[in-house]
Amino acid sequence: MEPVPLAAPRPVVQESLCRVRRTKHSQPFDQEPGFAESDSPEGAGDDRETTSRTKEAILTWTRKKRSGSQILNTETIWRRRCLEEFGMKEDLRKMEAGGVSSQDLYVKLLHPYRHILGLWQPDIGPYGGLLNVVVDGLFIIGWMYLPPHDPRVEDPMRRRPLFRIHLLESKKATVECMYGHKGPHKGDIQTVKKDEFSTKCNQTDHHRMPGGRQEEFRTWLEEEWGRTLEEIFHEHMQELILMKFIYTSQYDNCLTYRRIYLPPMMPSDLLQPGLFKGTYGSHGLEIVMLSFHGTSARATKLTGDPNVPAGQLTLDVDLSQPIDLPELDQQRNIDVLSRIILGIHEKVQRGVEQPAGDTSASVGRAAKESGGAIAESMEVDHGACADASQSGSSSSSSPPETQPFVLPLGVMARNEVYPRTWRKCFYGTGLIAGHGFTSPERTPGLFVLFDEDRFGFIWLELKSFSLYSRLTDHLPHAHAPNMERFEAMLRNMQSWTS
Ligand SMILES: [Zn+2]
Repeated sequence: MEPVPLAAPRPVVQESLCRVRRTKHSQPFDQEPGFAESDSPEGAGDDRETTSRTKEAILTWTRKKRSGSQILNTETIWRRRCLEEFGMKEDLRKMEAGGVSSQDLYVKLLHPYRHILGLWQPDIGPYGGLLNVVVDGLFIIGWMYLPPHDPRVEDPMRRRPLFRIHLLESKKATVECMYGHKGPHKGDIQTVKKDEFSTKCNQTDHHRMPGGRQEEFRTWLEEEWGRTLEEIFHEHMQELILMKFIYTSQYDNCLTYRRIYLPPMMPSDLLQPGLFKGTYGSHGLEIVMLSFHGTSARATKLTGDPNVPAGQLTLDVDLSQPIDLPELDQQRNIDVLSRIILGIHEKVQRGVEQPAGDTSASVGRAAKESGGAIAESMEVDHGACADASQSGSSSSSSPPETQPFVLPLGVMARNEVYPRTWRKCFYGTGLIAGHGFTSPERTPGLFVLFDEDRFGFIWLELKSFSLYSRLTDHLPHAHAPNMERFEAMLRNMQSWTS
């Protein structure tokens, strides 16, 4: 194999990395994680109540301990709390047999670290990511979720532990970095403000491999792409892959995470909102979050690339603009599809310029811009949405109508095998941009709903097709408390990389 040119990243990359690192180092890591009341997620229902009850329980415990009364009696209470609040099961008995009490587990591990449970996005330039922090056995584990290897978009997600926290000899919660291939080693976690935490590795030499950067790169490539660089013939793709390795490996698991929520489900939704894997050409597979906002369906990137970074709105589908596809032989003709989509695109653009106009497109836009005016937009959009919610429901007695689907000739698809029936189609726009997110532009395209778990998008200008497939992983502690919080999160996420 030719030596891999592991050159220094471009100045712009390095500069932004330094900025991130300076911020991180300005935070003290030798403190206990912040447990302040203000840290608790506002929307976590009765969290505040739970917190005060817990404080009371801890006080009682401390008092009892001081007076020397029987701790055994209170053990059942702590066990119940571990079971009910953190969903622990048989592991508790195993732990108690090993000499660690439920009380220690609750007071020293679960309660102090409860604020880091759930879904998070790492601040790692344009690339983003998806971290799921869960109680797993006697550990709290941070799992990084990775898409399957390109282009097998329907394969299950892969996951890799980045850190774990556990009780060491029932004394103190211990944080360990799990990055690299030499097993767990010393790490730190710090929560500085609400809905944000940072991880740090204290032994980064554990990430290094005997074969140096070459070996580290090959191992990363095998994990990330399931292929060697020689097997990736496309030169531009090789460049993108090298760039991602150089950029991301410099963090050495020293990352800041921001909380993300799964979208709340509304009865009017076209299909169940949630997370999907999608094909993004040379960039490989990326993770997007599909959510519904009045007459608009939006796909936001949780992972991104140097062109369109994580946090950006990759697809914006106008549900007030349904499209009826022609017969199969006509579908094969890209000119037919172009005429239909560009016709709507121009109409919608005119509607945006003249918001006073009474076309359905402009009404749809107005409803969208009002943000969260679901009741209003439902009235406007009874055609598309109300109908969709019926056919989208799995409990519906009559199966939804499907019709044959084929990609137009000349449209590039990552997967030769794609769904051959469609259920609903809508006009939408997809975000394209130059390297470094330069000159971003929303370009017209076709959103195709295949079934409850798959949809596609034809990028008209790029003459390419993206196929999206639902993530089926169980992700607890992740739903947004309400639509307002969810939309605020989307806005924040977009601003991180704008
Ligand atoms: Zn480490």
